[in-house]
Amino acid sequence: MEQEQKKILIVDDNKELAQVIAQLLTKEGYQVAIAEDGGAALDKIFNEPFDMVLLDLQLPDIKGDEILKKIKETNEDIAVIILTAFGGEQVAVELMKAGAEDFISKPFDNVHLINSIKEVFKIREAKLEDKKLARLSSFEKFFPFLAHEIRNPLHAISGALAIIQRRSNLQDEVLAKSIKIIQEEVQHLSGFVQECLDFIRPPSRSRYSLVNINEVITVVINILSHIYEDFSTRIKIRQEYQEGIPKILVNYEEIKQAFMNIVKNSIEAMSDGGEIVINTGFFPEPAPGWLRVIIADNGPGIKKENMASLFHPFFTTKLRGTGLGLAICRRIIAERHNGRIWVESEEGKGTKVFVELPGNRTFASGREKL
Ligand code: ADP
Ligand code: MG
Repeated sequence: MEQEQKKILIVDDNKELAQVIAQLLTKEGYQVAIAEDGGAALDKIFNEPFDMVLLDLQLPDIKGDEILKKIKETNEDIAVIILTAFGGEQVAVELMKAGAEDFISKPFDNVHLINSIKEVFKIREAKLEDKKLARLSSFEKFFPFLAHEIRNPLHAISGALAIIQRRSNLQDEVLAKSIKIIQEEVQHLSGFVQECLDFIRPPSRSRYSLVNINEVITVVINILSHIYEDFSTRIKIRQEYQEGIPKILVNYEEIKQAFMNIVKNSIEAMSDGGEIVINTGFFPEPAPGWLRVIIADNGPGIKKENMASLFHPFFTTKLRGTGLGLAICRRIIAERHNGRIWVESEEGKGTKVFVELPGNRTFASGREKL
């Protein structure tokens, strides 16, 4: 998907000038709106997300410093460039001290205006990036470095082990078994590191594309049948797909991973075999155009006292579990796709995982969370 269009609000009571600026900015690829006075500007800012305001100081209704303050109170991430008439520089400088990002004296030429906008956006992006980083927990900040330090030796161990394996006499049972243990442990550790990274990886906007969920699930089942050797003999899978469901805008890799984690849990729960039923459908609830996927197994179910902890990072009842599978699912489905995920389970009967994803229209309006 192309980069999201930046949205700029032009606030100027000089209609002709506002129009000229609007045309120029549209040509530069920005999305533009115009407000002719302070009241209209604040109205717009309350109701729509803007990235920047070009603010003329000579407005008929509200004084420049007041409106600047209100804009920043509404959303401090909106950048403000002051447009000032000749001689108004002193005021403009005061406003920059009060939080405006830049000022331009009228009359200005197009190149000057565009350069200023680009420069301000560049600084704003950097600031937003810093803010995002500050919000991450120390685990999230620290782990990528740790992961790097763990992975390098793991690769080296795997490589060296492959050589040992080739050169050893594997008739020696103890030796063969020891090599297998090292292999399994290395695999477990790199799997754990990968899951932690998947859990904290920030969303990437660029990877969103239109995807048919039925196809994603078919791919997931295919991959899992390679991972679990006795998969097809041990576990029956029934696919109840609604045909012709529309494609929805998602991050393909993330969604694939979410369904993989869910189906994996069912497979792991049913070590003695069982059945998984996967149902997809297009629903008018909770809003028109939502997709719902239900993954149901007839495994042992989940104890009541564990139900509240399922989505907590590191909660696991498995000897070698990471407890990150469902935590990752929730991140992907709820936080990154504005969807919903929940679990219903009955001990002794089985478990159902519900996933709901918004269709395109609802999704597009949730652009804040994309
Ligand atoms: P992990 O699989 O590493 O334990 P998850 O976050 O994927 O971590 O799952 C957390 C816990 O939820 C599991 O340890 C298990 O107790 C429970 N669970 C999840 N799915 C199922 C299921 N289909 N059947 C039974 N228990 C489940
Ligand atoms: Mg799991």
